[in-house]
Amino acid sequence: MSSFQLPTHFGRFGGCYAPETLMPALLELEAAFIEAQADPGFTSELARLARDFGGRPTPLFQAQRLSNEWGVDLWLKREDLLHTGAHKLNNAMGQALLAQRMGKKRILAETGAGQHGVASATVCALLGLECVVYMGEVDIERQRPNVERMRLLGARVESVASGQRTLKDAVNEALRAWVSDPDAHYLLGSALGPHPFPTIVAAFHSVIGEEAKRQFLEQSGMELPDLALACVGGGSNAIGLFRAFLPHQQVALIGVEAGGRGSQPGEHAARWLGGREGVLHGCRTLVLSDEHGQIQGTHSISAGLDYPAVGPEHADLSDQGRARYEVAGDAEALAGFQALGRFEGILPALESSHALGWLMTHQGDWQGKRVVLGLSGRGDKDLVTVLPLLGDEA
Ligand SMILES: *Cc1c(COP(=O)(O)O)cnc(C)c1O
Repeated sequence: MSSFQLPTHFGRFGGCYAPETLMPALLELEAAFIEAQADPGFTSELARLARDFGGRPTPLFQAQRLSNEWGVDLWLKREDLLHTGAHKLNNAMGQALLAQRMGKKRILAETGAGQHGVASATVCALLGLECVVYMGEVDIERQRPNVERMRLLGARVESVASGQRTLKDAVNEALRAWVSDPDAHYLLGSALGPHPFPTIVAAFHSVIGEEAKRQFLEQSGMELPDLALACVGGGSNAIGLFRAFLPHQQVALIGVEAGGRGSQPGEHAARWLGGREGVLHGCRTLVLSDEHGQIQGTHSISAGLDYPAVGPEHADLSDQGRARYEVAGDAEALAGFQALGRFEGILPALESSHALGWLMTHQGDWQGKRVVLGLSGRGDKDLVTVLPLLGDEA
């Protein structure tokens, strides 16, 4: 069916389940990506933007007070310090430069909580590209401040009224819009979707793990960490951290997904807890669906983890036994959020708080171990969610 040049699958996952009408755009994107990666002009421009605009390299910070408290040697990879407050900018910068290279004038993007929409609007303003962000009606209501940020940055926010009116529906709408708009590039926000997106998104985020590995070796004077740990929504920040450690079997890789408020369907967004193999948004992966293939509703305290499928590379890493996927619920995430604030003076994103909460619960298994935790974003955006839940405690 295709003349793709890069591998389209991760084991039996991934692939390109896209309408025929999208194939030319996907082939064009892959070709542009391959060329760009081999072009020092492109890679040096991306590195310049990452450094001078984004703030890379982000620090690797040894969290000493929390390490003492938990008995774990904890290091934080500070993507919360990247411009716009989360790792999303790495991918947005890379894809927007690719779009520019392909001569595209317009960027289409989807967003759930709004972080990817803000990152996309930001790079579009930077590069002078038009930006249209698809967002579910429900998310527009509950993420007002990010909607305002996108508009201030010059983006148009398109309200999506179909389905559950959240992220899944926004992706559908953005894909649909792309089919009829060949002058646009669809800037997909996680390591998901039809080939070549999972490969491209992971490549642009792999700087996270490359930096973290180098920094860990330099700063700790030791060998390698025992564990690389990150939260997993679609899986982009986690794969960005994991990739550099994949060849080192002695480094355990653990992704933490959203356990929500319970294990019943609809109460969580944990794909390894009741998900099955299926196809969603262009790739074969683990999907939360019933036996008829109906996509299940999901719940998480953090909008960024609230998605029914996971990136295909993670499904494969789990299959191979190279990475493990664990669950932290809303309450554990809140506990992780509070702990990092009180012991280290950092308010993390609720997404990243899942990784912290998981480690807090499982600290007994990691006594004395060296842990690099991907702190994917900062928590300012989450105060409206957190404060009412904590009540007097806050
Ligand atoms: C979007 C987001 C996530 C989840 O997305 P991944 O693709 O799984 O990384 C995690 N953390 C933050 C801060 C986010 O904004």
